[in-house]
Amino acid sequence: MKVLVINCGSSSLKYQLIDADKDTVMAKGLCERIGIDGSNFEYKKDGAEKLSRLTEMKDHKDAVSVVISALTDPENGVISSLDEIDAVGHRVVHGGERFNRAVLINDEVIQAIEDVSDLAPLHNPGALIGIRACMELMPSLKQAAVFDTAFHQTMGAEAYLYAIPYEYYEKYKVRRYGFHGTSHAYVSERTAAVLNKDIKDLKTVVCHLGNGASISAVKGGKCVDTSMGLTPLEGLIMGTRSGDIDPAVITFLMGKENLTGQEVIDILNKKSGVLGLTGISSDFRDIAKAALEGNEMAETALQAYALRVAKYIGAYAAAMNGIDAIAFTAGIGENHAGIRKRVCDYLGFLGVKLDDKENESGSDERVISVSGTKPAVLVIPTNEELSIALQTLALVD
Ligand code: ADP
Repeated sequence: MKVLVINCGSSSLKYQLIDADKDTVMAKGLCERIGIDGSNFEYKKDGAEKLSRLTEMKDHKDAVSVVISALTDPENGVISSLDEIDAVGHRVVHGGERFNRAVLINDEVIQAIEDVSDLAPLHNPGALIGIRACMELMPSLKQAAVFDTAFHQTMGAEAYLYAIPYEYYEKYKVRRYGFHGTSHAYVSERTAAVLNKDIKDLKTVVCHLGNGASISAVKGGKCVDTSMGLTPLEGLIMGTRSGDIDPAVITFLMGKENLTGQEVIDILNKKSGVLGLTGISSDFRDIAKAALEGNEMAETALQAYALRVAKYIGAYAAAMNGIDAIAFTAGIGENHAGIRKRVCDYLGFLGVKLDDKENESGSDERVISVSGTKPAVLVIPTNEELSIALQTLALVD
């Protein structure tokens, strides 16, 4: 079974054609600067060199056409016709309270995604444009929407409500939603598989540490708490996002720097995090290198980052009355042994004992705590596209 996975932004479209039976990516790539001068198309067939070429794409429909042509190209393509594809899976960032699982797309679903677009104004409109373009160009294929928020919909009101006047929840649905849900779901399932346990018996903390970072408490396979909120700004320190701060900082800076509220929010989203602290980079490889070379702020940024992750793990140990497993995933979680070590150094009181050799031995799926100790600590490479493909297939089978 083959699924075309589409992740659409306002001016970009990432795609992967996944053979779900073999767990392989047949081809993948990206359309950039859609509707902007100098739009670019990238295509990489499994086992071949990446191709990149300037290709005019005046809208997302053009972009989808270019993707279809590349996939079915007699020379460099991977399928002979669209008939070989079983379904299309779309990543949609925000499903609001309406969607707690992936769904097949129809007019009513499109309307519901549109209805929650004010909760994700930078993301949902892009996804909708991509969905409409695919429906037009591939009318015979079933299309599914897979939501970043869906996995977190099992949180109870005690975890998702903000302690602000309740009318704002009633009127505007202001609450914690959480993001990266596809990754948290996938990684918690893989954690159970690697430990050879039934997920129903496990209390797992999933640390998704990428450019954006979030952490979740998963009890018996269900999310009971997560660090991102109404938007992805809350929670952990990230590459360019502040994560948790005192909300009064916003009005304080507005007054001192003569900024609008939106301008401060932009600073908190795009110029903060480890980039804001160090002025060096949002990329952890640069921060780690600078810290090694003696840059004190880089060292402080790494310490602050690890402390925030450790504090959330402690909080989630309380929320779940214990932890059986801690799983690290995404760019930093999978690759940065130093950050994992710094986080785990705080967690001896929970029983965590890292196996330093395992911790430093690459980025493959594995247990990195001392055998027989609890909680188990694992590295689990995330695979959001495969998860989207599998969720899509479950709807069309
Ligand atoms: P995104 O949220 O964009 O999907 P990723 O999951 O790819 O992000 O994570 C990007 C982060 O992972 C960057 O900060 C990068 O520095 C970090 N990273 C990637 N590879 C390594 C590595 N080998 N060592 C340390 N950090 C890494």
